[in-house]
Amino acid sequence: MELDELYQSMILDHARRPRNFGELAPPAVRSEGYNPACGDQITLYVRKGQNDTIEELRFTGQACAICMASASLMTVQIKGKPVREALRLEREFIRSLTGPDDLGPALGNLRALAGVKRFPQRLKCATLSWHALEEALNQPAGPSEGGGPQG
Ligand code: ZN
Repeated sequence: MELDELYQSMILDHARRPRNFGELAPPAVRSEGYNPACGDQITLYVRKGQNDTIEELRFTGQACAICMASASLMTVQIKGKPVREALRLEREFIRSLTGPDDLGPALGNLRALAGVKRFPQRLKCATLSWHALEEALNQPAGPSEGGGPQG
């Protein structure tokens, strides 16, 4: 099926040349993800902007192609989005991969990972970066605006 081939080349492309690869300095929060079953290890950096949006996010690490591609595609898909929207996409992505639903259009190019459904043992590879994202978003942000004593 042609779509399969397109998706496969997209996964390989993101695995070889991951987007948003690198670190962010504080006050960006960071979280770690580790998948012992496969050896995937990633560190995610998230900086929130005004109005609770995800202003910037990057990741580093060493992981298999599925895990790298999922993290890379995730950063592309949720950068600039409100935190609430990102968490909604996370739930949709994980629910779709673990249940009967197809990956919906809101997930964009992440639908390239739909094939993972046929390989349940690789599910953790595909969802690792998303769990790290949720953890990062639940951490308190850096210095909060206003409030504190100044000068
Ligand atoms: Zn893996």
